[in-house]
Amino acid sequence: MIKKRVQDAINEQINAEFHSAYLYLSMSAYLEDNGLNGFANWMRVQFEEEQAHAMKFFDYINERGGKVTLKPIAGVDIEFDGIIGVYERVLEHERLVTSLINDLMDLAIEERDHATKSFLEWFIDEQVEEESTVEEILSNLKLINGEGQGLLMMNKEFALRKFTPLV
Ligand code: MG
Repeated sequence: MIKKRVQDAINEQINAEFHSAYLYLSMSAYLEDNGLNGFANWMRVQFEEEQAHAMKFFDYINERGGKVTLKPIAGVDIEFDGIIGVYERVLEHERLVTSLINDLMDLAIEERDHATKSFLEWFIDEQVEEESTVEEILSNLKLINGEGQGLLMMNKEFALRKFTPLV
């Protein structure tokens, strides 16, 4: 049985993951509206990934005999500062998520909850990958100044991204 303190913190994280999903869906709408359908697709896959993260936490609480509590999802931005502005915002957001996951891990250690520690390892690794992916996209966007032929090439490539269910 999961401790209440850990359960409450994971419930907060479920909300944070759905909030991330909502933010990326909003970015997808913005990108679509700005004629970047490939980037819009990339962001839509990001949206699906965040929902899958939320469900991974959801399933974990249930598996440990806890109770999932869903709270309202906070609003998200609907306007962004161009394609570079979008990815700067994604990187900033992913760094925030990393700090939330680290806080969860600190709590699991403090509570000597070894099962939760083991469960959270996956998210620790996932955040390293998320930040590195977004840093690379952002530096490529800056190289091409977020415009021209380079932007069209990236847009084409990102149209191919597909969601793969988490393992
Ligand atoms: Mg996430």
